[in-house]
Amino acid sequence: MRFVRLIYASRMTEDCDLDAIQAILAVSRTKNKERDITGVLFYDSLMFMQCLEGPRSNVNEVYRSIIRDKRHRKVQLLEYCEATDRLFPDWAMGFLGASDGNREVLEKYTEASKFDPYRLTASQARDFLVEMAARKRDTLKT
Ligand code: FAD
Repeated sequence: MRFVRLIYASRMTEDCDLDAIQAILAVSRTKNKERDITGVLFYDSLMFMQCLEGPRSNVNEVYRSIIRDKRHRKVQLLEYCEATDRLFPDWAMGFLGASDGNREVLEKYTEASKFDPYRLTASQARDFLVEMAARKRDTLKT
């Protein structure tokens, strides 16, 4: 079985609010667990960035459904590669939001005045999510 990692960025539509995000997370956590998919979803009030990792056919199937979802648009693939290890093995879908605790990470990956995931390279996108997740894990420990 082939394992892959997929990272994309997208822009929220007017159909998306906090309740919608809660609903997305609830569905994702159930469906991803059933499909052996792990990952994280980052959001910053306008944009999403998501990493999905798991069996190739399952990741592709979920991504096809995500692309059709009207709660976001301009879905752009940032990374798609085979992977031997998972970056987020403990999260069926971790949720990362911009906050005071991770402002430093956000600034590190901000080129102009505003964070723009569409400008990130594949490795920057991956490193960004890994660093944001590390901050979240630290917060959860305290
Ligand atoms: P259905 O509910 O029958 O969906 C049919 C189609 O309608 C799908 O294409 C779906 O995308 C779309 N859709 C469903 N509900 C809505 C709604 N309220 N508004 C607009 N369109 C809708 N799902 C996962 O399983 N795993 C994930 O990791 C995941 N991440 C997501 C990240 C983002 C940013 C978004 C926007 C959605 C995400 N989803 C995820 C949800 C996913 O798009 C589907 O809604 C969900 O998987 C159920 O799809 P379905 O085809 O099984 O069912």
